[in-house]
Amino acid sequence: MKAFQVRAPHEFSLAQVETPVAAPGEVVVGVAYAGICGSDMHIIHGQNAFVRFPRVTGHEFAGVVQEVGEGVETLSVGDHIIHGQNAFVRFPRVTGHEFAGVVQEVGEGVETLSVGDRVCVDPVISCGTCYPCRIGRPNVCTHLQVIGVHRDGGFSERVSVPAENAHKLPEGMPLSHAALVEPYSIALNVLDRMQPQPGDSVLVYGAGVIGLTIVQMARALGLTDITVTDVIDRRLQTARALGATRTINGQAQDVESVMKEQTGGEGVPLIVDAACIPALMPQMVRLASPAGRIGLLGFNAAPSDLVQLEMIKKELTLVGSRLNNRKFPRVIELMATGKLNAQDLISHRVAFDDMPEAIDLIESHPEQTRKVLVELMHVAG
Ligand code: MN
Ligand code: ZN
Repeated sequence: MKAFQVRAPHEFSLAQVETPVAAPGEVVVGVAYAGICGSDMHIIHGQNAFVRFPRVTGHEFAGVVQEVGEGVETLSVGDHIIHGQNAFVRFPRVTGHEFAGVVQEVGEGVETLSVGDRVCVDPVISCGTCYPCRIGRPNVCTHLQVIGVHRDGGFSERVSVPAENAHKLPEGMPLSHAALVEPYSIALNVLDRMQPQPGDSVLVYGAGVIGLTIVQMARALGLTDITVTDVIDRRLQTARALGATRTINGQAQDVESVMKEQTGGEGVPLIVDAACIPALMPQMVRLASPAGRIGLLGFNAAPSDLVQLEMIKKELTLVGSRLNNRKFPRVIELMATGKLNAQDLISHRVAFDDMPEAIDLIESHPEQTRKVLVELMHVAG
C-alpha cells in the first residue's frame, strides 16, 4: 500500500510499505482524510517548525544512535531519531495524527467496532498504570505513544490502531470534518485546563490553525469576547470570520495598551499562547487579570522570564496543555450539533500523490493555508 514516509529528517516521500493487519484489540482503518499539522513539519525536518526567534541550540536534534546504555530497551544502535517534544521518533515513520476513515478489518477481541464503521482516531495511547494515568491525565502518560509520532499514523492508505482509540462518527458527519476532531481536541484541552467562567474575555496569541480552533472552541463553549493577535493581517481576517470579536496586529498596535484599555485596566482573565513564542511570557503575565489563567501550547525549548511578584500578587494560574485528555466524544458532539464550523477551517484539499507539494505550499505560503487535508480514499458522505 501507499504511505507518506519520513525516512530521516528532510527525507520524505510517498512509498510502498507493507499493508498492516489488525493485531488483537486493534482495527485497521482505511484512511479517507488526514490533516497536515505543524508538528508533522517538526518531524519531517527534525526540528520545531514554530521557532521564529534565535534558538538556544542543543535542545532539539536529530541523529543516529551509536550506543545504548544498560537498561535501554526502546532504542538500538543504528536507529535514526530526533529529539523534541520529549518524544523520540524512530525512522522510518509514517506520520499523520489527524485522520478519519472507515474500518476495514477488526482484530481478535474487538467488540465495539465493525467493518464499515466510520471513525476518527484519537492519537493518544497511554499505559493506564503510571502516575498521570492513575490520576486521569493519560495524555501525559509516562509511556505515552502517539499515533503518527511514536508509531505509524494516518498518512497511509491503511493504519492499524487500538479499537479504543477509534471513535464512531454520528450519521451525516463528513469524514473530511471528522479529520479535524484532533486539532479541535487541542483547543478544548487547553480551554478546559483554564476553567473558563461565563463572561470571561479571552486573548489568543497567534492566528494559525491552533489559534483559529481556539477561537471557534471558545465560541462553542459560550465565550463571546474573543481577541486574537498576530502579525499577519490575512490570518487576522480569518480569525474575525471564524468568531473573533477583536483582532490586533501586533506589529501595527501595542497589544498591551489596547488590551489594558479594552478591559478598563482590569486585565484579561483567559490568555492562550498559540503563537508559541517564549518571549511573550512577560507580556502575558502583565496582561492577565488577578485570578487569570494562562494556557501554554508551545514546545519551544528556549527559557522564558517569569516575574514571581506578578504571579503571586495576582495569583495567576499557568497551565501547560499537551495533546488531549479524552476530549474526542465532546468535540464530536459539538461538531454534530453545529457548534463548530469545521468547513471554514479547511483551506485546501489535496490528492495523496500531491502531498509533498502541499507541504511545500504550507512552508512557503503559511498565510495562504489554514488546515490542509489530504484525501486518501474517496468515500461518499
Ligand atoms: Mn496536530
Ligand atoms: Zn501511563
